[in-house]
Amino acid sequence: MSDPRLSRRVNEMEESATIKMTQMARDLASKGHNVISLSIGEPDFDTPSHIKQAAIEALEKGDTKYTPVPGTMPLRKAIVEKFKRDNGLEFTEGQIVVSNGAKQSIANVVLSLIDEGDEVILFAPYWVSYKEIVKLAGGIPVEVKADISQDFIINASQLKEALSDKTRLIIFSSPCNPTGSVYTKEDLSALVEVLKDFPKVVILSDEIYEYINFTGKHDSIGTFQAVKDRTVTVNGFSKGFAMTGWRLGYMGAPKWIADACNKIQGQITSGAAAFNQAAAAVALSTSLEPTQEMKKAFERRRDMFVGLLSTIPGFKVNTPTGAFYVFPDISEYFGKSYEGQEIRNADDFAMFILEVAHVAVVSGSAFGADECIRLSYAASDEQLKEAVKRLRDAVAKLS
Ligand code: PMP
Ligand code: GLU
Repeated sequence: MSDPRLSRRVNEMEESATIKMTQMARDLASKGHNVISLSIGEPDFDTPSHIKQAAIEALEKGDTKYTPVPGTMPLRKAIVEKFKRDNGLEFTEGQIVVSNGAKQSIANVVLSLIDEGDEVILFAPYWVSYKEIVKLAGGIPVEVKADISQDFIINASQLKEALSDKTRLIIFSSPCNPTGSVYTKEDLSALVEVLKDFPKVVILSDEIYEYINFTGKHDSIGTFQAVKDRTVTVNGFSKGFAMTGWRLGYMGAPKWIADACNKIQGQITSGAAAFNQAAAAVALSTSLEPTQEMKKAFERRRDMFVGLLSTIPGFKVNTPTGAFYVFPDISEYFGKSYEGQEIRNADDFAMFILEVAHVAVVSGSAFGADECIRLSYAASDEQLKEAVKRLRDAVAKLS
């Protein structure tokens, strides 16, 4: 919806599809419908209690003032340790910037690097906000697409084809939102080989789902010598620690990029909340057992949910190896109709599912994959089983 009173920047921006769909599900539920929302990417667990306790203690101690723009020193030290311990990445505290969510970290990086006309390669399917943030900065999103037949993993020749002398940045997530795919060390190594010939290209590696990885191993592209000095590794607390509402994310970056992000953040939001940062430092430096328990629960649900979804006629499903999403190809239903309404694309399919089955999912179109839908299995077993039953009944009505 365009409004001449608003800036071109806003008029050209798409609303976040994940947030929009979640709101539509809430609206339908508020009218008394029993809606199962599998639309938002949010763990259904509570933040582990020792982390909450640390925030309470920090508040009581008076940790309520402005913080340094790039984050408190104890938290930045904990992040430096975490990068070393979990990822084999070496950063100094001056290379860490803490933000109000990984979303802000990503926006900081893009706004720091991208000028009008610069190209940014997005590995599609991509997370919704990458594209809009790139457009906001005046950049040109260049989509490289992998479909379900290649488990949504971009290969070296696809990357090579997309790179040009205008490319400034590539952005991807592993484990990936929306597909749940994980880039293995071999996958990353093949990409790095290509990037060796493009020394000015910066890599933004979004690793926010790091701890929800069922392959047993998380690999960071920043560990490869050829790209280590030009990789920004973004992570956060929302997913692995079930802290979505705390709004805390961070990056480890080359110093010149960290400084730029610090400068932008100093003018736009300043440092993140003081007591949140105190608790986040505790989250990183204490046992990861609660996180591992959540991961186990997600893995168990994945097995159950993928098994059930793949029995629905017309759902082409692969087995995601991380995050908490399934991204089936439902294009077999395009061209079919219900009560005179034709399903032309994934947007129509998602709306049909919401209206007829009262199950909220997100259309793949917002993720650069119009043949798919995204379902989050961060929900109870009962909800997931009931959702599958409703989906099966709904698609049986299409002809
Ligand atoms: N990156 C990806 C891939 C995500 O799914 C999300 C969604 N929360 C974010 C970044 C942003 O996370 P945060 O809540 O830390 O802003
Ligand atoms: N990242 C989550 C998702 O993809 C949360 C919503 C959002 O920030 O877009 O659903």
